[in-house]
Amino acid sequence: MATFKAIVITKTESGTAAALTDFDEQDLMEGDVTLRPEWSTVNYKDGLAITGKAPVVRRFPMIAGVDAAATVEASSHPAWKPGDKVLLNGWGCGETHLGMYAGKARVKGDWLVALPPPLSGRDAMAIGSAGYTAMLCVMALERAGIGPGSGQVIVTGAAGGVGSVAVALLSKLGYEVSASTGRLAETDYLKELGATEVIARAELAGPARPLARERWAGGIDTVGSTTLANVLSMTRRSGAVAACGNAGGMDLPASVAPFILRGVSLLGIDSVMAPLAVREEAWQRLATDLDRQKLAKMIEEIDLVDVIPAGKKIVEGAVRGRLVVRIR
Ligand code: NDP
Repeated sequence: MATFKAIVITKTESGTAAALTDFDEQDLMEGDVTLRPEWSTVNYKDGLAITGKAPVVRRFPMIAGVDAAATVEASSHPAWKPGDKVLLNGWGCGETHLGMYAGKARVKGDWLVALPPPLSGRDAMAIGSAGYTAMLCVMALERAGIGPGSGQVIVTGAAGGVGSVAVALLSKLGYEVSASTGRLAETDYLKELGATEVIARAELAGPARPLARERWAGGIDTVGSTTLANVLSMTRRSGAVAACGNAGGMDLPASVAPFILRGVSLLGIDSVMAPLAVREEAWQRLATDLDRQKLAKMIEEIDLVDVIPAGKKIVEGAVRGRLVVRIR
């Protein structure tokens, strides 16, 4: 019996449980590419899966982990051969398909993106789904016509993973960035990443008025709920807000006033099922548009054995920036 180490989520009487354990290679799911994950990361969704705080895992037992930088071990897919360095984000891995906190994984070759030089596997997982989602948000704002000359843009949940990468990306691209955080102690960190202004989360946390004073040309929201409602109400005429997260709640207690009276656009971002061409564009952009010295400031490196406590920490909003997981 060939086994490898993996973080496995099982169903229990009271909910779910996560453990680092041995997993039998024979129990891997269907796929035309076998991978050796080398680096992974802890995203908010991984925290939800590990803690069972939200029902993101829909098959048991499940190997958690939505992201990997990996080497192809075997492939019957025409695009990939043994030794290729690849990236995988989402596609249901860690939710419906066995995930990446594992010594081995089997996936569809159509899900993979070639590791874009000059990024290393470690760099790519320092970015992870969080950073790739931040890039998708930036691309959506650009498509909506929001550029560096449009005016200040706001990033909410700024000290988190998506938020940190969003601040760094927008600043490198020349935007003036306002960062909203519940951790004002991280003001210096956010300014180092490129924020020109740091505001307290509480300013955006209360019930939103239909329209408030126009403050930002655009925004990237990782929080949802009243925070997104306030950002919308404060977005300038013809502005746009990319919504990707729900760290503060799934609801959206907003009015249609920003849309119909100021022409504001709400741009939905789903990284999990984004088409391959969009992913490839986002990763190419990350390879060029993200300052890797700033990325280095966001990272804490951990081992597979540390992932379960890290998952608990991230759902408490207590992780700064990005966690990179060394699998081997
Ligand atoms: P993190 O935990 O790293 O960041 C979330 C941040 O949100 C926290 O650091 C904190 O920032 C803020 N926050 C946490 N709790 C609250 C709260 N109750 N009220 C207000 N703000 C809060 O997670 P990620 O960056 O990995 O993910 C951020 C969000 O984006 C998550 O909801 C995640 O599910 C979502 N996501 C969505 C994707 C998609 O495809 N749409 C892909 C990836 C992530 P601070 O301390 O600065 O206030």
